[in-house]
Amino acid sequence: MAWLSLIALMVLVPLSSALATQQTRDGAETLIPVRVQLKWYHAFQFAGFYAAQAKGYFADAGLAVELLEGDPSIDPATVVAEGNADFGIGTSSLVINYAKGLPLVAIASFFQHSPFVILARRDTGIKSVADLEGRTVMLEPHSDEILAYLITAGVDLDKITFVPHSGRIGDLAMDAPRRVDAMTSYLSTEPFLATRVDIPFETFDPKNLGIDFYGDTLFTTRALADQDPARVKAMRDALIKGWQYALAHSDEIVSLIRETRSPHMDRVALGVEAQIIPALFNADIVDIGYMSAKRWRLIADTFTLVGMITEPVSLEAFLFQDSDPLPHWVEQILVTGLVALVLSLGFILHIIQINGKLKRSFEALGLRQHQLEMANGELARLSTTDALTGLANRRHFDEHLAGKYTRSRQLGLPLTLIIIDVDFFKSYNDLYGHQAGDSRLRDIAGVLARMSGREGDLAARYGGEEFALVRPDFGEDDALRHAQAVLAAIHALALPHEASPFGVLTATAGVKTLQPEDALSVNDLIARADAALYRAKRTGRHRVEIDGERNQ
Ligand code: GH3
Ligand code: MG
Ligand code: MG
Repeated sequence: MAWLSLIALMVLVPLSSALATQQTRDGAETLIPVRVQLKWYHAFQFAGFYAAQAKGYFADAGLAVELLEGDPSIDPATVVAEGNADFGIGTSSLVINYAKGLPLVAIASFFQHSPFVILARRDTGIKSVADLEGRTVMLEPHSDEILAYLITAGVDLDKITFVPHSGRIGDLAMDAPRRVDAMTSYLSTEPFLATRVDIPFETFDPKNLGIDFYGDTLFTTRALADQDPARVKAMRDALIKGWQYALAHSDEIVSLIRETRSPHMDRVALGVEAQIIPALFNADIVDIGYMSAKRWRLIADTFTLVGMITEPVSLEAFLFQDSDPLPHWVEQILVTGLVALVLSLGFILHIIQINGKLKRSFEALGLRQHQLEMANGELARLSTTDALTGLANRRHFDEHLAGKYTRSRQLGLPLTLIIIDVDFFKSYNDLYGHQAGDSRLRDIAGVLARMSGREGDLAARYGGEEFALVRPDFGEDDALRHAQAVLAAIHALALPHEASPFGVLTATAGVKTLQPEDALSVNDLIARADAALYRAKRTGRHRVEIDGERNQ
């Protein structure tokens, strides 16, 4: 009987779309009223909605959309599940809500990467997430990825005092009546606001520990998805159109938000947000709103790993079934985190653009120059620093090394790369706990930072417990002496490690010095230093091996 349904479909589909069009032309009263619960105050974060409303995309789809502004106490998942809104914008917490039995359906993920971070007051001694223990942290209701991050980082959640989020950056001020040490925040908003009120801050980003989840996601209830999938699709498609418009006309939407939503909103802050949010879409490689079952699986598995989902959960009923699968290679890129790199590069470009735009806006507003410098500095720092150790992150290292490589070629000077790997670190974690392990990584990073004082030197976190030192102009002899001095300094910290034959924490180093006559690429340089490191590991650890082969 398949052909019968096919015929029915052929007749009904054009009919129903003709009806929808007719209704739309008849006037607003025939539009279907739809309520959407946003997850925060009006901001550029919801630009797609404002654009779809202003440009008539919702009306064209037969919908009269009412936007319900969020606030820090509102959990859209609950609002929608309880029938007080038809749709909502949620975070990756949706999958936890679903696993706990809320009949929710994810429809489209707009932010391919979540901008959720922890913003902490730096001058209170908080240098890493571990330092949040014993502190007060403001948390939004849907912050599960932040909790997953803290658990992954080995932080004891029982030692943190969590309080409801006030939505006020001012609560980080020393004299605030409800002062807190840290708060959940969006990378696109609060860090900038903090610079405006001169609050020195540190951000801790779950992506640093590989927690790279979807951000703002449109969702509804299972009941609506089953009863009226056409309405769900209409909503989704109109919102996608809205976002397409908003991304292409961000200045116009910023003005629209200030005119129609939040006249008191900080124009510059909104402009900064409008510069950062588009990078989260990865619109250059995926369609706006795309989400993949695989990625949601990965998110659910991460929550399971940290104990936030306790029962096995199938996600079949969680995903709105209507999307065309992406080509395999794109899926692969998205899942393997290559996209994080693309995003970071995009982020840097955005920062560069923001710098120009900010400058103009600040000048227009007559704001103080030092605030501009702070804002620029903080944004640049956010994208180049490793959150745990405060050293340069891998991306910064890659760029720095590439720059020094080019310089060494141009000037005919040597360039040294030292890769350092902590010895028996797995057993250190096993014996003393991951959190203690994190603290030791910071201790070691401190040594590396102190010993990287010359101009052009760089100390970076290369991987988990691996570090890299870039030493421009260092020849082989200097390099060997320096690497030995670094290992000796780590040994001299005398950090007890009962499971190591050395009794204290030690590290091993591999060194490669690029000579002007060597025909080696940057990647060769890294591979040689790496190979030397592994020779040093095989031959006893707590020692330096230098790659002596010359390559013409
Ligand atoms: P080896 O001397 O051969 O280097 O032994 P190892 O145990 O250090 O090496 P292996 O590569 O087997 O393990 C590295 C360990 O480093 C695994 C992981 O537990 C730990 N590690 C990696 N990143 C972090 C981190 O950010 N924090 C903590 N606490 N541990 C980490
Ligand atoms: Mg290692
Ligand atoms: Mg190791």
